[in-house]
Amino acid sequence: MEALLVMTRGVVMQADVLVLGAGMIGVSTALQLQRRGRQVALIDRRAPGEETSYGNAGLIQREAVEPYPFPHDSRMIFKVMRKGGIDVNYHPLALPRLASPLAQYWWWSSPSRYARVAREYSRLIEHCLSEHDSLIREAGADALVRQTGWRTAFRTPSAMAQGIAHAERLQREYGVEHTVVDGAELGRLEPGLRHPMAGAVHWTQPWSVRDPGALVASYADLFRQRGGHFVNGDATTLAQHGKGWRVTTQDGVIDAEQAVIALGPWADTLTRRLGYRLPLFVKRGYHRHYTMRKPLSMAMLDAENGIMLAPMNRGLRITTGAEFARLDARATPLQSGRAEVAARQILELGEAVEAASWLGARPCTSDMKPIIGPAPRHPGLWLHFGHAHQGFTLGPASGRLLAEMICGETPYVDPAPYAATRF
Ligand SMILES: Cc1cc2nc3c(=O)[nH]c(=O)nc-3n(C[C@H](O)[C@H](O)[C@H](O)COP(=O)(O)OP(=O)(O)OC[C@H]3O[C@@H](n4cnc5c(N)ncnc54)[C@H](O)[C@@H]3O)c2cc1C
Repeated sequence: MEALLVMTRGVVMQADVLVLGAGMIGVSTALQLQRRGRQVALIDRRAPGEETSYGNAGLIQREAVEPYPFPHDSRMIFKVMRKGGIDVNYHPLALPRLASPLAQYWWWSSPSRYARVAREYSRLIEHCLSEHDSLIREAGADALVRQTGWRTAFRTPSAMAQGIAHAERLQREYGVEHTVVDGAELGRLEPGLRHPMAGAVHWTQPWSVRDPGALVASYADLFRQRGGHFVNGDATTLAQHGKGWRVTTQDGVIDAEQAVIALGPWADTLTRRLGYRLPLFVKRGYHRHYTMRKPLSMAMLDAENGIMLAPMNRGLRITTGAEFARLDARATPLQSGRAEVAARQILELGEAVEAASWLGARPCTSDMKPIIGPAPRHPGLWLHFGHAHQGFTLGPASGRLLAEMICGETPYVDPAPYAATRF
């Protein structure tokens, strides 16, 4: 221990809780703990909100009550295998390593198991707007947020009919609200469309953010203004120290009784070292911005192609679906290229803003639910990752749940479905 103190200029700081990772999940957790009177040290190797929480489509998805299942339809699986669509790509060399978590993902996606997973998943997402709302107001970040919902747009009447049936089911089963917009009306509402569409389902409750990384940064500023300590450091230096935990940062060594792993797609770099074998994998995704003379008024999913068209401060952000690959494998922006072609078919799209696409990774678990709760074999250690397609949405709601558990309060949502012990 002496050597560690010397290495870090002899400074040892004390906090109540170390939060490792300053994406949407970690920053929200830090704020929720701070609200409960805890001294929190938030640690990241970069500035807050510069990784996955920067590059997403910026949707606070109140409608996303059901997670994405693994397809059980053989035609769909065949299409994916031959890389026929835009929504899914994979690296063949990654498949042996992915075989086990993907097999479990397939198993959990059978209709009966999936029904239970979706019910449990929906319980947390129900709170996404109210939990973001208070943070947005306290952070003074209202200008970043549009409270206008977003649309799933369909190119063909048959896809539109299926989309409406799906929306009606979500309304019946979960109270998710929508309106239907026909093709002519959609063309009038969005003059940037150059191709007549069959119509759209307008999800009226969700919000969207013009710069997702900036929202996380504004939450992190709020945390600092309220006395929180943000510092650069390597989370993999975390080690048990006495009855608590110790991490080495650029400011020195920080000790705390409790530590939270909120490292998103990098969580298993630490959990594996601690001896946990959790069924984690990533679905990588790309984005690129484009200029538009007549910008979209709200985000729009091109349903048949699975690409999200999200108006942002930097331009129209086109985000892609899932790429199954190793987290650190080189970028293969096949989907980005195809997404641009598809978007140009329906939109008056200008030039690309960046020279190359951004690449990030959704942190996924095989049963589609995040892991929120205590580490089974390490007192004082908490796991908070695996929020997959909706981590930007879930940050504050999930952060509140974990903070309540850490502080010994009655959890506002039953945490049992998210426990690490379920695996
Ligand atoms: C293309 C795309 C579109 C998406 N669209 C949406 C959407 O519209 N709505 C939605 O809700 N979700 C969306 N998502 C998912 C969402 O972005 C993620 O679920 C969410 O950002 C995960 O947040 P996180 O805090 O867990 O991870 P991250 O934001 O990745 O944060 C993890 C942090 O850990 C830090 N870190 C890693 N290793 C170390 C280390 N050794 N030491 C110190 N720090 C470390 C990283 O620097 C990073 O800041 C999308 C994702 C993608 C890829």
